[in-house]
Order: sequence, then C-alpha cells, then structure tokens
Amino acid sequence: LIRNYLGFSRGIGGAELIQRAYQQAWVFGTRFALTREAVGLSPDGDLLVVTVSPGEELRTRSVVLATGVTYRRLDVPELEALHGAGVYYGASAFEAKALTGRVAHVVGGGNSAGQAALHLARYAAAVTLLVRGPSLAESMSAYLIEELAAAGVEVKLDAEVVGGGGEHALDHILVRDLVHMTDAVASTDGLFILIGATPMTEWLPSEVLRDRWGYLLTGDDIDEAWAEKGLKAVRSPQPLETSLPGVFAVGDVRRRSVKRVASAVGEGSVVISQVHTHLNQLAGRPPT
Ligand SMILES: Cc1cc2nc3c(=O)[nH]c(=O)nc-3n(C[C@H](O)[C@H](O)[C@H](O)COP(=O)(O)OP(=O)(O)OC[C@H]3O[C@@H](n4cnc5c(N)ncnc54)[C@H](O)[C@@H]3O)c2cc1C
Repeated sequence: LIRNYLGFSRGIGGAELIQRAYQQAWVFGTRFALTREAVGLSPDGDLLVVTVSPGEELRTRSVVLATGVTYRRLDVPELEALHGAGVYYGASAFEAKALTGRVAHVVGGGNSAGQAALHLARYAAAVTLLVRGPSLAESMSAYLIEELAAAGVEVKLDAEVVGGGGEHALDHILVRDLVHMTDAVASTDGLFILIGATPMTEWLPSEVLRDRWGYLLTGDDIDEAWAEKGLKAVRSPQPLETSLPGVFAVGDVRRRSVKRVASAVGEGSVVISQVHTHLNQLAGRPPT
C-alpha cells in the first residue's frame, strides 16, 4: 500500500494507482502499446528510432525513458527454483493475503523491505525481517523501524539467507548468523526478497551514458562524467535529458532518483516542458 502519495490519505495500492493513471492518460489522448517491450534505440539524424518487440520500428523526435528498476536476485539456486512457489521478489497484495495466519520472512534492510514486512504483518501470523547488516538505522526510515516494532515484526540483524527448499513449494529456509557463522533452519511459508534493484537499461545503446550500476545520467551528471574522463561535453543537456539528444529519463531509472511515486510522477510532469524545448530547438523556434 502506498501511503505517502499526496491526495490518498488512506493509501492506495500500486495496481489501483496504475489503473487510474492509465484511464487518465487515455482521456488525454495517450496511445498505448500494451505488453510490448522496447528492445532498441538509435539516433537517425534528428530522429530517434525505437525498436519494439517483436521488431516494429517507431520513428520519433523525442523519447522519455521511465523503465524503472527490477529486483536484485538472491544468489541461491534452490530458492530460485521455487520462485513463484513461496519465493517472491517484491511483495504483492495477493501473496500477502494468501499468507493469512502463516509464517513469512522478508529479506532486505531498506524501506521497500520494511514496507513489505509491515504489509505482510497485517495478514501473516509471524513475520521476520532478515537483514545482512548490523543495523537498520542506516538504511531504513526511523518511522518504519518504529512501525515494524509496533506491528510485532521480528528483526534479525547480521542474517543472510543461504539455502532453503520444499517439495512443491517453499517450506524452510537456511539462515546464516554472520557474527557466529552458524546456520539455522527456519520454517516458512513465504520468502519475500527486496534486496535492491537493477535499472532496466541494458537494452539502451552506449550513447546513453549510465553510472556503474546502470542508472541513467541526466543533466549536470553528464558534464561530470565527461569531465572525469578528461573530456568536455559539446552540449549542455537539459536537467532530465540523457547524453543522447532528445532522449530523457524520469523516475527510478534515473541516477539520484529517490525511488518514490511522487517524485517519479513529478519528474514525468517536469520533463514535458523539456521535451517541448527540444522540439522547438529542432524546429528552429525560440524556447517557450
Ligand atoms: C515493495 C515496494 C513498495 C513501495 N512503496 C512505495 C511507497 O509506499 N511510496 C512511494 O512513494 N514509493 C514506493 N515504492 C517505489 C515506487 O513504486 C517507485 O518509485 C515508482 O513506481 C517508480 O516509478 P517508475 O515509473 O520510475 O518505474 P516503475 O513503476 O517501475 O515502472 C516502470 C515500467 O516500465 C516497464 N519497462 C521496463 N523496461 C521496459 C522496456 N524495455 N519496454 C517496455 N516497458 C518497460 C516496467 O515493466 C514497468 O511497468 C515502492 C516500491 C516497492 C518495490
């Protein structure tokens, strides 16, 4: 449940928010290509060519990238095999309800993991948060730490999931105590993994500069990246523009994004005037 997005005092689920946004964008005349994936992007003169699976090419004067992030995987093969059968990346409302009265474990020390644990605590009989580090204070908001305690979520620090299994679905995990280097089996009905994210940028061409984690550089970050290489940029991109002219980035996929709905939506609003500036430049018109 997203509880900190302006205008929804009781919170709103991600799926419902997306559905509402879809309807609103439709009213404004947006055209959608549902269940299609962008797999390529290349410049062609003043135009940009976006390749959409299974091979259609769209020619356009500007592109806004809002591809977000995907969850980092836990490197435990026996748990990967149970993905979807008790092992989940992220935490959806559906899976949480299915765990009513049962036992859940959440892996991760960030706000996403904390929110997932809180959400699960509304349904599950017992929720344990497994954190690899020695403290939550560095990585999680103070209010969430307090809410976890109030909701009865057990927090295990210095803990790493190193194994687990189950015949048809997950029924146990192996948790390593990183201080004493001992392993213990814990019975569980659901393991929710929220250990960070990888930006969805691997399909983009090298002209679109990224940081070492793959997040897209925009605005001043690009000048800095060139300067680090001892080079000087030939043009100054707009604040949300990438190193490829006319290609913009907003939301979680952008370096320095704060990973919040409000900021992703806000950047989506701000970027439009920058797109217009780019289109005016192409047309030789003065900026508005
Ligand atoms: C468990 C959890 C709880 C959260 N709780 C909160 C909260 O309470 N409050 C809050 O403010 N934020 C919360 N967040 C963060 C929030 O969800 C994100 O900040 C926000 O969704 C970012 O929006 P976005 O548009 O950048 O990316 P996303 O919402 O991730 O959207 C990206 C979309 O692009 C699609 N895509 C990716 N690559 C391609 C491609 N090549 N072609 C076509 N489509 C593609 C993806 O499938 C996805 O649909 C939470 C996140 C998680 C994981």
